[in-house]
Amino acid sequence: MANPQIDVLIVGGGFSGTMLAVQLLRRTTALSIAVMDRGGLPGRGVAYSSPHRFHLLNVPAGQMAAFPGDPEDFLRWARSNYDVSIKSRSFLPRAVYGQYLGSVVDRTLAEKGRERFQWIQDEALSMQRRRSGVALQRKNLASPELLARAVVLATGNFPPGAPRIPGLAVSNSAGGGIGGSLGSSLYVQFAWAAHALENLPRDGSVLLLGSGLTSIDMIMALKSKAFRGTIHVLSREGLIPSRHQPIQAWPLFWNDNSPQTVRGLVRLIREQVDLAAEQGIDWRSVVDSLRPVTPQIWQSLPVSEQRRFLRHVRPYWDIHRHRLAPEIADIFADMEAEGQIRFHTGRIMCYAEDRNLGEIVYQERGTSTEKRLHAHRVINCTGSETDCRRIDDSLIVSLFAQGLAHPDALFLGLDVDAHGALIDYEGKPSRSLFTIGPTRKGQLWETTAVPEIRQQAEQLAAHLVTVLNTDSDEGELLEPAV
Ligand SMILES: Cc1cc2nc3c(=O)[nH]c(=O)nc-3n(C[C@H](O)[C@H](O)[C@H](O)COP(=O)(O)OP(=O)(O)OC[C@H]3O[C@@H](n4cnc5c(N)ncnc54)[C@H](O)[C@@H]3O)c2cc1C
Repeated sequence: MANPQIDVLIVGGGFSGTMLAVQLLRRTTALSIAVMDRGGLPGRGVAYSSPHRFHLLNVPAGQMAAFPGDPEDFLRWARSNYDVSIKSRSFLPRAVYGQYLGSVVDRTLAEKGRERFQWIQDEALSMQRRRSGVALQRKNLASPELLARAVVLATGNFPPGAPRIPGLAVSNSAGGGIGGSLGSSLYVQFAWAAHALENLPRDGSVLLLGSGLTSIDMIMALKSKAFRGTIHVLSREGLIPSRHQPIQAWPLFWNDNSPQTVRGLVRLIREQVDLAAEQGIDWRSVVDSLRPVTPQIWQSLPVSEQRRFLRHVRPYWDIHRHRLAPEIADIFADMEAEGQIRFHTGRIMCYAEDRNLGEIVYQERGTSTEKRLHAHRVINCTGSETDCRRIDDSLIVSLFAQGLAHPDALFLGLDVDAHGALIDYEGKPSRSLFTIGPTRKGQLWETTAVPEIRQQAEQLAAHLVTVLNTDSDEGELLEPAV
C-alpha cells in the first residue's frame, strides 16, 4: 500500500476549507495540506464569487475578519485596498470579501512557505478508507486517485433537493449535477446556477419560489442586470428578512437554568425584548446577544424540542437573525413600492409550461382559492437541502454507502463529534474523516456564517495538528480499513 501523499486533504475551498488550510499553515510546518475545489479561487464558494454590485455582505465589516483573534483584520485590509472610509458597521460587496480571502491565503503562503500547500481544481467524486489513509477519486479521470492521512469535508451548503412539485418530479442532478434546469429552460432548480437569469426578456416576468435571503439575492441580481419586468415572490408565510440597524450591547440573559423548551425560550426572549424596548433598545440587540451561546442553547434542548423549533419557530428565527444590509433593504422597499415586486402567499399545487411561460398553481394562504401565476422564468429559492438521504452528490452518497457517515438526528447535516469527526453507522467517531461548516448544523445549529466558521477552522486545525502529529509517531493512522 502506498504511503499518503497528503497529510490533510480538504474537499471544498469556500470560506470553511480555505480558512482551515490557512489555520493549519499558520500552526504547523510539519503537515502537507491540499484543498480540492471545483473552482480556481480560494475562499469564494457561492457566497463570495458573485459579480453583482448589489450583492452585499449581510454581516457588517467589523464582524467579518477571517481570524477570531484579530477582529480588525478585514477592516484594515478593506481600508487599505478598497475604501479608506470603511467603517465597522459598513456592508461591503461580497466580491470584495472574496478578494480579501484571496489576500489572506497569499499573505499566509508568503509568510509560511508555499511548498506544503497545493490547490487542486477538481471535483471529489468518492472516497474509501484504507489502512494507510483515505483514498479519494476525482472527476478528472486523467488524474490518479489521491491518498491522504485525513480528509475534511468543507463542501458547504448542498443544492436544493429534487422539487416535490407535481409537474416537476425530476431528479435534482439534471442539468449538470448541481440543480440545473430539469430539462426545462423556464424552471431553475438551483438559484445560483450560472444560467439562472440568462436570456430573460428585459421586460418579462420572473417568479421566485420562497421569500428568504436567496430570493432577495435573485432580486438584487435582477436589479444589477437592469431587469425592468415584474418579479413575483411566492412563499408560504410571506415572511421577509428584517433589515440591519445599529445595535447596542444587551447583557446575556440565557444560562444553564434557562428553559429547555421552545415555548419557554420564546417567552424568555419576548420578555427581554419588552424590557429592552422600555429602555429604548431595539429587539436586534436582544437577538444578537444570543449569538455567542446559540450552540449551547441548541444543545440544551432535547431532540423533540429541537424538532418543535424547526416546525414552528425556524422561519421567524431566520428572518430576525439573518438580516439584510440597510442599502439592500432600501432598494427592496423601493422596488416593492414601485410595484416591480409583487408578493403572493400560499401552497404550491403544481407546475406546467406552455411554450415560453411557466405556470404555478397555488392555493392562497388562509383560503381554498386556487390561483395561477405565469412567468418567463421560475426560480426555486427555497434554500439548500440538508437531508443527506435526498442529496444527489456522489461524494456524500459514497460515504453513506460505506457506512462512513451518518445523518444527525434531525437530518440537518452529518452526525459528528465535538471536533467535527464524522460518526459512522456503528456510532464511532472517525480519526481520519472530518467536516466543517454548514454540514455541522445538526450539532451546532448556527454554523453557516463567518463569525462561527472562523472559530471552527481554528479549533479543527488545532485538533488535526495534535491528532496527526501523534499518529505520525506511530507511522500511520490506526483506523482499520473497511
Ligand atoms: C449567497 C450567500 C451569501 C452569504 N453572505 C454571507 C455574509 O455576508 N456573511 C456571512 O458571514 N456569511 C454569509 N453567507 C454564509 C456562507 O455560507 C458562509 O459565510 C461561507 O461562505 C460558507 O463557506 P463554505 O466554505 O462552508 O461553503 P461554500 O462557500 O459553499 O463552499 C463550498 C465549496 O466546496 C466546493 N465543493 C463542494 N463539493 C465539492 C466536491 N465534491 N469536490 C470539490 N469541491 C466541492 C464548492 O464548489 C464550493 O466552492 C452567505 C451564504 C450565501 C449562500
